[in-house]
Amino acid sequence: MNPYLVRHIFLPLHERLLRRRTFRYYRDLEESQWWATQKLQELQLEKLRRLVSLALNKTAIYADLAGVDRCWLPESLEDLQRLPLLDKSIISAHREELVNRDVRGGPIRYNTGGSTGQPLIFYFDKRRQAYDKAARMRTHRWWGVEPGEKEAYIWGSPIELRRQDRLKQIRDWLTNELLLSAFDLSEQSIDWYVARLRRFKPKCLFGYPSSIALLCQLARHAGLDLTELPVKVIFCTAEVLYDHQRRIISETFGGIPVVNGYGSREGGFISHECPEGRMHITSENVIVEIIKDNRPAKPGEDGEIVITHLDNYAMPFIRYRTGDIGQPSNETCPCGRGLEVMKVVKGRSTDFIITADGRWVHGSAFGYVFRNIPGVLQYQVIQEDVGSIRILVVIDDDFPANGVEQIRESVIARLGSDVQVDIEQVSKITPDPSGKFRYVISRVARERSMALGLEEGKET
Ligand SMILES: [Zn+2]
Repeated sequence: MNPYLVRHIFLPLHERLLRRRTFRYYRDLEESQWWATQKLQELQLEKLRRLVSLALNKTAIYADLAGVDRCWLPESLEDLQRLPLLDKSIISAHREELVNRDVRGGPIRYNTGGSTGQPLIFYFDKRRQAYDKAARMRTHRWWGVEPGEKEAYIWGSPIELRRQDRLKQIRDWLTNELLLSAFDLSEQSIDWYVARLRRFKPKCLFGYPSSIALLCQLARHAGLDLTELPVKVIFCTAEVLYDHQRRIISETFGGIPVVNGYGSREGGFISHECPEGRMHITSENVIVEIIKDNRPAKPGEDGEIVITHLDNYAMPFIRYRTGDIGQPSNETCPCGRGLEVMKVVKGRSTDFIITADGRWVHGSAFGYVFRNIPGVLQYQVIQEDVGSIRILVVIDDDFPANGVEQIRESVIARLGSDVQVDIEQVSKITPDPSGKFRYVISRVARERSMALGLEEGKET
């Protein structure tokens, strides 16, 4: 599809049909990125006051949780620190009482199986969806990709949606997007993947860095040349982008930039790398705090990334703990944007699971398994050999009587019927000695990654 038509007709129409003000927000963001940081902070305070007022007055419980009067308002951005930190367990425990039912377009319920091994159900709204999309379009432009230009995704694809596949295909065609599954890469399928990319001719590629690096190594081993593709830039997100992955991906595509984005389903579009190599916060939509021992970390000091999403009016993600580690920075970026800068030090990471038919299934496949099963507080998938996997689950009273069977069926639907699935209920799952929690650990994938040249220099 002609990118001009997509940019000026189909994409705006698509957003309007979904009642999202994406293009209006996009125009605003294009302008405000050049504002001085101080002016952006004034906007943040104005938005924060509105957000806090909505949370205190439109949700049943936020005022009690926060321990402040319903008419309290922050006078400065520092006042945000008077509000409590929120995390997944608080949101799960009080979910329905934290919803603002009057939000424009209605609250949208979302189940995330979690790229952390901790499923979460939460609410967001059209406003946040539109801002996230607008912010994403803005960062694509930093790298020379205009809205409506062809983009291929390497991402999860829920098998439950098969009935809607045709509709989605038409939508993707009209909006110049191509979805390639992150669950089917293998030595056998790599020809097919590369053929699809050659036919589609994407301007950019977007997805999990581990899957894109895998695609690159499989293509190299099969003697397939990816430098002929018109891809100008690769956008990585949802997990840590390791230096060796960046190098493999860039080289395979002929030396193009490989760019890091940081965000999450519940946290939104938090920050993104600019051509000067700095991670800019989407300051218009998100306040980022880096917290160490209950105080703000100093520049260069590690702390937990805590976010406040200023444009989700459906549920207050105010001082929400992401579990990721970052560093604050008071650097100004040579690119001239006033958007604040941060560093993401440690984020989410996962292994692949290798199936008997040789597929490398990205760990996020288990997100699709667990998002449909209530009562799972945490899970971990362990693969010691190709024929079997072990799944540890921490559950509560909402876990259905046939929950174990549901998990087994859903896993088999994704990995194939020749896999032995052992499911164990445990009271807790401990992080590895480095303190990092891995929700998918596969010795098989580690060994094969090593053989394929994917593990070089990888942190553990
Ligand atoms: Zn910059």
